[in-house]
Amino acid sequence: MWKLIFWGIIIWIVIQLLKRGLKINKNHAPMPNNQDEANIDSASFENMVQCEQCQVHLPRSEAFLVNGKFYCSKAHIKSDAEYN
Ligand SMILES: [Zn+2]
Repeated sequence: MWKLIFWGIIIWIVIQLLKRGLKINKNHAPMPNNQDEANIDSASFENMVQCEQCQVHLPRSEAFLVNGKFYCSKAHIKSDAEYN
């Protein structure tokens, strides 16, 4: 009878140790909430780009991307290429 209680205590201790191990692993994981907020901030900031030719700011979706540079219009893509 005492052997059963002894093994019951041993198993309970092992389970408690495993639970603590899992909790420690969760604490070491990076916090997703803060990273999401940072991503949203940087994304909204990157939505505005600057024309290489006239330095005007315009939304990323309306800008022309040529050779890694942004332009506000096709005319400025041409004039910048001629300048270089
Ligand atoms: Zn321009």
